[in-house]
Amino acid sequence: MRMLSAAEAIDMAGIGVGPANLSLAALVHPHSEITAKFFERTGEFQWHPGMMLPSAKLQVHYLKDLVSLVDPSNPFSFLAYLARKKQLLSFINANFDQVLRCEFNQYYRWACSQLPSLQFNSDVRSIEFENGFFMLRGDDWVQPARNLVLGTGQQPSVPACAQSFIGETLFHSSQFMTRQRSLKDKRVVVIGGGQTGAEIIQYLLSDASALPASVTWVSRRWNFCPLDESPFTNELYSPQYSDHFFGLPQHVRQALLAEQKLASDGISQSLLESIYRRIYELKNVLHHACKIQLYPGRELLGISERNHHWSLSMVHGHSQVREELSADTAVLCTGYEYRVPACLEGLESRISRHAGGYVVHDDYSIEWDGPQGSAIYVQSAARSQKGIADPNLGLIPWRCAKIINSVCGHALYDLVEPESLVQWGATEVFDEVTDARFDRLAALANWSSGAW
Ligand SMILES: Cc1cc2nc3c(=O)[nH]c(=O)nc-3n(C[C@H](O)[C@H](O)[C@H](O)COP(=O)(O)OP(=O)(O)OC[C@H]3O[C@@H](n4cnc5c(N)ncnc54)[C@H](O)[C@@H]3O)c2cc1C
Repeated sequence: MRMLSAAEAIDMAGIGVGPANLSLAALVHPHSEITAKFFERTGEFQWHPGMMLPSAKLQVHYLKDLVSLVDPSNPFSFLAYLARKKQLLSFINANFDQVLRCEFNQYYRWACSQLPSLQFNSDVRSIEFENGFFMLRGDDWVQPARNLVLGTGQQPSVPACAQSFIGETLFHSSQFMTRQRSLKDKRVVVIGGGQTGAEIIQYLLSDASALPASVTWVSRRWNFCPLDESPFTNELYSPQYSDHFFGLPQHVRQALLAEQKLASDGISQSLLESIYRRIYELKNVLHHACKIQLYPGRELLGISERNHHWSLSMVHGHSQVREELSADTAVLCTGYEYRVPACLEGLESRISRHAGGYVVHDDYSIEWDGPQGSAIYVQSAARSQKGIADPNLGLIPWRCAKIINSVCGHALYDLVEPESLVQWGATEVFDEVTDARFDRLAALANWSSGAW
């Protein structure tokens, strides 16, 4: 291993290359005064490959790409990609309501191919703070850096009762495309009534010649609920709302997150319509034998293995009646959660914690006991403090521009926002809110704190 000296320290070391740190790399690229490198454990960029279903659509406007929100003239915009590929006019004429996720993956990969600061096959194994620098260590390399940006994303959340059974026929949705074999004539149970569960249901029902014997869709929510994509709800995905949310007391933020659940975790309207129509066709027009069962309002309680199949026990929310389902294959669409990356273990005792999360500052640096000028920034890890937009794509460029401004100490990107369309603020409004309302919101927060 070649040991690097402190003189070779870079300004910014990014851990992980998903859309978040890729945006950071794209936005820092034109500014050679900031030295940056980004380390990714996989051999190439792939955006959630286990869920890259052929018809999966982006759940955000395509202009919410890597850079446009803060600098549409940056060469790594989605429009620049389309122009470079000579497909801009066709794209305009196609007039898509939603872009395929695999097209955005291709766009991301195109950006990767031109950013020399990205280093793939570079798993960051440990990070220590030595002699005033973060020392990142991989298998056969070491890199000193003045600042860190954690972009390691969220990890699959698997219910405790399922953890010991994960394998070929019972798995989390993040492994759907890599694990699943032919499910023709099998009994398939999909657990989780969010967008991911819906995408898998649509996929399972799409090919009439390969349909399972039965498809059962279980959701903890009382129905298969739509994503709220109305314009005022979309304001929750604005810098102004994120700033406002950040200034609220923690218990209010927690309650609001529960109230805003369907603004981030519902199913897109077009997908719900497509699934409903497909079920209609299979039942009433094609008279297909595939048994389709829709079970909302149920919570998974336990799993057992019985004679080469799974027995899934549920409780029906309103009646508390117990039900058993048999499955040859069960897919857990039970969401994602943030976990502190293992490579941070060496710094863990120096990092402040509040309510299980980092203590995040306005510029996305977190509180730790290191010296000034040595910051640890976090991406997609501050939902409880910055709002529902935080783990999604929409505000990534704005967050990255904030991080860049913070690292270089002046406003390289102009982030002065116009006045918010909606007046979220006004402390007196909160003074008037009764404790009873907070209690109700807090109860809601407890009930729906799981991602599914
Ligand atoms: C299936 C799916 C579809 C989604 N679709 C949308 C959508 O349409 N719109 C939207 O707004 N949001 C969407 N999201 C939410 C969010 O935008 C994505 O999860 C997004 O990928 C988050 O980006 P990220 O860079 O924070 O993390 P990730 O994309 O998870 O990237 C993290 C990267 O860090 C790497 N890594 C981790 N640890 C290390 C280490 N120690 N060393 C080196 N590398 C490491 C990982 O290999 C990974 O490549 C979707 C999420 C999922 C799961």
